[in-house]
Amino acid sequence: MSQNESWMQRDLAVLWHPCTQMKDHEQLPLIPIRRGEGVWLEDFDGKRYIDAVSSWWVNVFGHSNPRINQRIKNQLDQLEHVMLAGFSHQPVVELSERLVALTPPGLERVFYTDNGSTGIEVALKMSFHYWRNSGQPTKQRFVTLTNSYHGETVAAMSVGDVALFTDTYKPLLLDTFKVPSPDCYLRPEGMSWEEHSRNMFAHMERTLAEHHREIAAVIVEPLIQGAGGMRMYHPVYLKLLREACDRHDVHLIHDEIAVGFGRTGTMFACEQAGITPDFLCLSKALTGGYLPMAAVLTTDKLYQAFYDDYSTLRAFLHSHTYTGNPLACAAALATLDIFEQDNVIEANK
Ligand SMILES: *Cc1c(COP(=O)(O)O)cnc(C)c1O
Repeated sequence: MSQNESWMQRDLAVLWHPCTQMKDHEQLPLIPIRRGEGVWLEDFDGKRYIDAVSSWWVNVFGHSNPRINQRIKNQLDQLEHVMLAGFSHQPVVELSERLVALTPPGLERVFYTDNGSTGIEVALKMSFHYWRNSGQPTKQRFVTLTNSYHGETVAAMSVGDVALFTDTYKPLLLDTFKVPSPDCYLRPEGMSWEEHSRNMFAHMERTLAEHHREIAAVIVEPLIQGAGGMRMYHPVYLKLLREACDRHDVHLIHDEIAVGFGRTGTMFACEQAGITPDFLCLSKALTGGYLPMAAVLTTDKLYQAFYDDYSTLRAFLHSHTYTGNPLACAAALATLDIFEQDNVIEANK
């Protein structure tokens, strides 16, 4: 028996894999990976594969990147973890300063979770909670685009619309407003991306105008609906959305978990529309593809609505055990160093 075969059999005896009908593996072999370097993955029989899917879109600077490895090793000898409630540490402070400086003006606070879906949960809960703290408790619902994807936890699924992932769980989901996507793949023949995106905004405007008293936030994947099939739209849609959210007193949540960190040609997709969302959710490439972590950035205005004496019970009492893990922060700092030192965004252009 080959080494691959042996690892595959041991795996299939005990594991339940993500996003998988396990019976498929009666026909489809698993690929047990022994090591990775750069774009390459290598299995236990020495066969090499190009990691073209970037390990679910997370890896930006290759496997076993010497600069990221070194930073994690240094951090490991210093501090592997400490809880972030009541405690702090150097990498989380440095990373937060870097993210605030790097993202559009106005995003001044960083809240951490340990994966993209829980980052979305934080943005949704904070938005809902903000309106309660601000004397507008009727603003409870969320607006989403058709064909959007925001993760797998129950609230994140609620604001998604990829039927394959959500239909089964419908009875569990929040009741959202679903607005037709500006997806330019579906534009009429001969129409420009900009014109189609503009036209499709009429649906969003109508929903906001009619229901803004009930709406806490609009959530979008800016420019590219990733899991929905890499469907794209024009930045003018985001500009119009920012303006309408301001006018109707509704938060704008940007899920840049997939498109952040250079995936659309700018560091963040919102830069192409020249806007600042009320919440910016980052994950995936944040740690270069090394460790699970998400960051939710928001404004000082949002933050101040929670800032009060404890007894008023306005605080955001949300936590994940591994929030702000120092090793993940170290991986993220090394990743940001590479973006900066190698001038990656400009070089890509
Ligand atoms: C991957 C992804 C998520 C979910 O992140 P997880 O870390 O898998 O929970 C959310 N939104 C978008 C746009 C994503 O691509």
